[in-house]
Amino acid sequence: MSHDYDVIIIGGGMVGGSLALALSRSALRVAIVEAKHVAEKKSDSAGKRAIALSWGSRCLLEQLNVWQQLNDVAMPIRHIHVSDRGHFGKTRLSAKAQQVDALGYVVEASQIEMVVTDCIASADIDMLCPAMLTDYVTSQHGVDVTIELNGKAKTLSCKVLVGSDGGLSKVRQLGSFELKEYAYDQQAITALIKVESDVQDVAYERFTSEGPIAMLPHFDGLYSLVWTMPSALAQTVMGLSEDEFLNRLQLRFGQWLGGLELSGSRQTFPLSLSYVADNIAERVVLIGNAAHQLHPVAGQGFNLGLRDAAMLADVFMSQQQDVGANAVLDTYAQRRKTDQSLITGFTDNIIKLFSTDNTLFSVVRNSGLLMLDKVPVLKNQFARQSMGLGSRLARLGH
Ligand SMILES: Cc1cc2nc3c(=O)[nH]c(=O)nc-3n(C[C@H](O)[C@H](O)[C@H](O)COP(=O)(O)OP(=O)(O)OC[C@H]3O[C@@H](n4cnc5c(N)ncnc54)[C@H](O)[C@@H]3O)c2cc1C
Repeated sequence: MSHDYDVIIIGGGMVGGSLALALSRSALRVAIVEAKHVAEKKSDSAGKRAIALSWGSRCLLEQLNVWQQLNDVAMPIRHIHVSDRGHFGKTRLSAKAQQVDALGYVVEASQIEMVVTDCIASADIDMLCPAMLTDYVTSQHGVDVTIELNGKAKTLSCKVLVGSDGGLSKVRQLGSFELKEYAYDQQAITALIKVESDVQDVAYERFTSEGPIAMLPHFDGLYSLVWTMPSALAQTVMGLSEDEFLNRLQLRFGQWLGGLELSGSRQTFPLSLSYVADNIAERVVLIGNAAHQLHPVAGQGFNLGLRDAAMLADVFMSQQQDVGANAVLDTYAQRRKTDQSLITGFTDNIIKLFSTDNTLFSVVRNSGLLMLDKVPVLKNQFARQSMGLGSRLARLGH
């Protein structure tokens, strides 16, 4: 039976785009359907958020020839400093101890998307943009996919449909996927902060009873703030004057970076954890945020999604015949299961453990941080997890 494509990818964000790029090295016929122009994404506030890339993600992006174009705009993180406000426990991870150049890097989301999109434009991939998925029908032999392109409905067929269309995935909604959802009733306030200190290569994770504060090194003496707190409080904090906002932040974050100043506007993002019980169905597979949307506190969402994309490409490319066969999708699901549940559980536990004033929890987290700092094996394991090396990485260098 002939199809228009072997693989149709819905969603050309950072994850779907990376999958398309990885597949462009194979003989597979690939199309990618993306709703927005890149210029549109670049100008929206979400595109400006800083993404902490793990060392493992750098390695994968390097294999896709994407990293080479991000190298100059990526801020290296050479130390990670984790502390708990009002308690002694703290730990510091360093790149030197892990014998790498950096534990990770910070890059603006829109910069990653731009480079990925430029690479796709020069690869052998059909990019249908701006185009929206509106419907699909699966059968034993393939998938008929209906999209809206230039205001007109168009139907394309493929062997396998990949949903990388983000947290509100239409591929997931139209399919028979069971979504588990936990709303944290928390929001993240993000902003760029000018700091007094000239420390440039340290990422700070500070836990407070209201929620965690992450400060990631950005460019030009700026740090990128992700400040998580209960939704009702976030409304109040967003309503504070600039001075009141900074005073509040300084009091909770402390003096690790000296005085703080706001650079530009503040944004809020509602936070939740959602994931599908099973990320494959007949001839359909979900990856990235379409499969699991995490709390941004641990900076793991894109890193996890990129490992999905790399593994899926690896599995597809080692397949000689039908890339949409059950056995192929099963192989992918099995290989990704441990990493996905580990990171989902790790992020969820961190929120529960660190966003509370409960005395027992604060004793546990403090002794945890102290132990982490004193026991090299634990510290190494934590560092490897933070570097995105806790699980098997796909090899894309075919
Ligand atoms: C405040 C904040 C900070 C974060 N920090 C980090 C961090 O430091 N490190 C990290 O690893 N992660 C971080 N994340 C998470 C990270 O941003 C996401 O995990 C990542 O963007 C997911 O990528 P994706 O490609 O799966 O989905 P998306 O980025 O949501 O992309 C989905 C794409 O699909 C397209 N689309 C949607 N519907 C359709 C349709 N019907 N038809 C066609 N196209 C469609 C969209 O236009 C979009 O381009 C953070 C998130 C937030 C909110």
